[in-house]
Amino acid sequence: MKVEIIAVGSELLLGQITNTNAAFMSSRLAEIGVDVYFHTVVGDNPKRLEEAITIAEKRANVLVFSGGLGPTKDDMTKETIAKHIGLSLVSDDEALKQIEQYFERSKRGMTENNKKQALVLEGSEVLPNRTGMAPGMVVEKEGIQYILLPGPPHELQPMFVDEAIPYLLKVNGKKEVITSRVLKFYGIGEAELEHRIQPLLEKQSNPTVAPLATAEAVTLRITAKASTIDEANQLIDPVEEEIRSIVGEYIYGIDDDTLSSKAVELLKKKGFTLSAAESLTAGLFLAELADEPGISGTLSGGVIVYDEEAKVNQLGVEQKLLDEYGVVSKECAGSLAFNVQQKFKTNVGVGITGAAGPTPHDGEPVGTVWIGIALPNEKPATYKLLLSGTRNNNRLRSARFALYYLIKELSK
Ligand code: ATP
Repeated sequence: MKVEIIAVGSELLLGQITNTNAAFMSSRLAEIGVDVYFHTVVGDNPKRLEEAITIAEKRANVLVFSGGLGPTKDDMTKETIAKHIGLSLVSDDEALKQIEQYFERSKRGMTENNKKQALVLEGSEVLPNRTGMAPGMVVEKEGIQYILLPGPPHELQPMFVDEAIPYLLKVNGKKEVITSRVLKFYGIGEAELEHRIQPLLEKQSNPTVAPLATAEAVTLRITAKASTIDEANQLIDPVEEEIRSIVGEYIYGIDDDTLSSKAVELLKKKGFTLSAAESLTAGLFLAELADEPGISGTLSGGVIVYDEEAKVNQLGVEQKLLDEYGVVSKECAGSLAFNVQQKFKTNVGVGITGAAGPTPHDGEPVGTVWIGIALPNEKPATYKLLLSGTRNNNRLRSARFALYYLIKELSK
């Protein structure tokens, strides 16, 4: 298989969006040993798209298209491919039904051009869209496979992994199944993680281990090929164990876990309620937690105690303690956590205080942050961070570190 990915969309050429779809598909294909030879980006222009297809057909036998399947006039990927390879477009009953149901559910009126999304290349295998409307499709013509996928990443990614890859493996006579497990890390940079597991990265073949850093976490994706899912999982298990034995302290979850979903899961498991007192994060920590559906019953409330006076007057932090140790201190974080826990009568109290920047705060350099976590009947645990980002980055990372340490404390 020689794959070329063709991303369609003028906004890609204008620099308004980045071609993350190609990066995503390339990394998934690399994991299963499929070669991607070219990435092409072309605007919403039928003539130039056809030129790109003509070139790609000479150098690849699988052309994967992203984007241009929507209902508007500039979405013309299907039409251009249909014309180019001499196939007509036909309405797919199943896709049309799904689109109609989507409009019924969202109580919105369906316009005529929405029906366009149910048009597929005749004879193609339709790839259902479980997270959106426009179906994908695959068709083969003269030894070349054309795979058409929708542009929005939340639609393309599951369709690519769940539909397109299994299709490619099937038609190319590969009998194996592929499965992945993603380990999620916090508190360790991508470079250090790679360095620590280098020997493992070097010896890998099946399973493969691929590091990836996203805005929220550093991840390792372990991917195995085998004849059944169970066998593939059995190949993954020892690799996961080995990784955990080296850098397990930084792992907070797997697959779809996020810092907040994991924290909420653990709080619920223990039947704990939580409150927080936030200084430099000014509500970011609680906002991250509140993003989780099902948080009610667990999250009690919190206070923003940004300045010294608020810490003393609203939360009863002792002035003497602040005079002696300062507001950016282990003692202040511990007191914030304990006092908020008492004030809100919750099982857990979290306190966050620090110097976000751009100027030092209370004699402490920018990026110094203290996090306190009070669990029932225990002296608050405290953690120090030394961050080096911009002001807002330091605030966001402080909130996320607080979630990470909360997970650590709840997992003990
Ligand atoms: P829609 O039904 O939303 O119109 P579509 O299949 O026609 O879907 P496009 O209109 O090309 O797709 O793109 C929709 C959105 O998907 C874009 O605005 C952009 O946010 C995102 N997108 C498109 N192509 C890419 C890409 N290559 N990488 C990342 N995001 C993309």
